[in-house]
Amino acid sequence: MSRSVLITGGGRGIGLATARAFADDGEKVAITHRSGSAPPGVLGIHADVTVDGDLERAVEKAEAEHGPIEVLVANAGITADTLLPAMPPERFEEVLATNLTGAYRTVRAAIRGMLLARTGRVVLLSSALAFLGAPGQTNYAASKAGLAGLARSLAWEVGGRGITVNVVAPGIIDTDMTKPLPGPRMADLMRMTPLGRTGTAEEVAAAIRFLASPAASYITGAVLPVGGGLGMGL
Ligand code: NDP
Repeated sequence: MSRSVLITGGGRGIGLATARAFADDGEKVAITHRSGSAPPGVLGIHADVTVDGDLERAVEKAEAEHGPIEVLVANAGITADTLLPAMPPERFEEVLATNLTGAYRTVRAAIRGMLLARTGRVVLLSSALAFLGAPGQTNYAASKAGLAGLARSLAWEVGGRGITVNVVAPGIIDTDMTKPLPGPRMADLMRMTPLGRTGTAEEVAAAIRFLASPAASYITGAVLPVGGGLGMGL
């Protein structure tokens, strides 16, 4: 297929693997990034999901190059772990602003075109830890659990226009985000993961690609775990 795809935070990690997977399929891919650059064959657009107007400009640029956005992946995210009693409000709000409000800004910038086209695929990146909870992650888990509510409400709003909205909830994936996890914490998490290993960014990209594919045409409002069984049943 040759659809216009936009991925936030596509310069590294899961976003980069997703950009590569879509590009390998022949899709026209644009990514937003703050640091680094886009891989060959992918349009790179500087944008910060917490900055007013950045996403609107990114969508405009991607659409000028590739046509109306048909697949949107709200992937940009951060952690800033701290136990709640020691967490100042700005640390809580920074994570909410990036992970939850950032996804809202991303979707808002791109959804009008999809509504007009009466078709589209939206995928939001949540986390298994949103539903399991984790010490030090009240900010992160709140933001990622919020995405499920956002997606499900949006699925109702846009379903009649042929647009699907789904959530991918990765477990522990081998990217920059999980590198700082202390060894004992990682060992605990692997004991909670039936497959007993971390996932790769490519394994998450494969799930995103599936949700954006014709094979997923009757799936909306779903939360798809991609975590080797971490948190299964939640
Ligand atoms: P990385 O830390 O490797 O990458 C994070 C990406 O988000 C980077 O591209 C970064 O851009 C971008 N980003 C962060 N803040 C902003 C911002 N304000 N504006 C624009 N872009 C921003 O993480 P992962 O690839 O692992 O994570 C991708 C998504 O998957 C995140 O939403 C994360 O929460 C989620 N996830 C990851 C898991 C894991 O185990 N790795 C598990 C569950 C969910 P830049 O390079 O410019 O900083």
